[in-house]
Amino acid sequence: MPDRPRPRRTAARPGVPVPNLLPEHPTLATVREAAASCQACDLYKRGTQTVFGEGPRKAEVMFVGEQPGDAEDLAGHPFVGPAGRVLDRALEEAGIDRGLVYVTNVVKHFKWEPRGKRRIHARPNAAEVSACRPWLETEIALVQPRVLVCLGATAAQALLGRGFKVSRQRGEPVPSSLAPVVMATVHPSSILRAPDDEARREEMARFVEDVRRVAAELADGARNAVATAAAMGASALGLGTIVTVAASTAAADVTGIVMASVLAAIGFFILPAKRQRAKDEMRRKISALRERLLDSLRGQFAREIVRSGDRIREGIAPYSRFVRAEGDKLREMEGELDEIAAQLESLRARIDRQAA
Ligand code: SF4
Repeated sequence: MPDRPRPRRTAARPGVPVPNLLPEHPTLATVREAAASCQACDLYKRGTQTVFGEGPRKAEVMFVGEQPGDAEDLAGHPFVGPAGRVLDRALEEAGIDRGLVYVTNVVKHFKWEPRGKRRIHARPNAAEVSACRPWLETEIALVQPRVLVCLGATAAQALLGRGFKVSRQRGEPVPSSLAPVVMATVHPSSILRAPDDEARREEMARFVEDVRRVAAELADGARNAVATAAAMGASALGLGTIVTVAASTAAADVTGIVMASVLAAIGFFILPAKRQRAKDEMRRKISALRERLLDSLRGQFAREIVRSGDRIREGIAPYSRFVRAEGDKLREMEGELDEIAAQLESLRARIDRQAA
């Protein structure tokens, strides 16, 4: 958790700041639930819902974007729209399993301006970013990623300072207390805005290159963990050897017998204790891995549901258009029939008058 005195928890209502909404015992689930009713800034009035981060609780890497887009706002999940698909592709090309990645945004509500029937992305201002930032800080504190990647200028400047320039420092590790490795690159949506196919291809290649650096950092971390485990094993083995050699040397005389007993006792008590610690550590790692896999499966399932929804919407779109068009025609015909009925009525009235 961020190191700051926790204010008394208050019910969400307009203007109540995020720190007052944080739960007593924060977990990703309780914090997500609290964020769902946040009204700390005016963006809650514009977005459909709060779009909180998603991914495994102990993800090794966290990607932080600016804010949810149109598709994310409707689906309630981060990075499921066109920009999310660009990120998916880059992760795949870099060999990172998206299911093991935590994705989130600096601002949790979609800020947009109307343009005709479309909702066009509008950049959140400094006050909105700062109002929403405690949600992100809490996510970082709970997940504790090894690598944190800011996507785009808004995320980078919110987390690394207003002077940070993505164009100058993209893909480079930046010293920060937020995570052991922190870096920034462009937001995937900027690739979609490239002026032509050639520029888009070039931008995508650079983006994939940056994500490959993330993969390299993760691989380094894994190698270091294996090396530490190996060093621990070697030190246990080394201690065992010292104990055995010293015991047999010492056993040559009477003093040696006493010494041998002491050393044997050390070997008897210390080595099993070390073995037990190694076993516990292994158990902890297996359970963390199991949890990550479960989180990944849950994430994939949620994404599959969203995609199925999109496919269904796309599938029925032509029929909805047809039904709407037929409805319009029927309404027109109804209008014409009303006119004919009115004309007939006036004709009949004229005939009645003439007959009289
Ligand atoms: S943008 Fe953030 S601070 Fe503002 S209402 Fe939404 S969740 Fe709360």
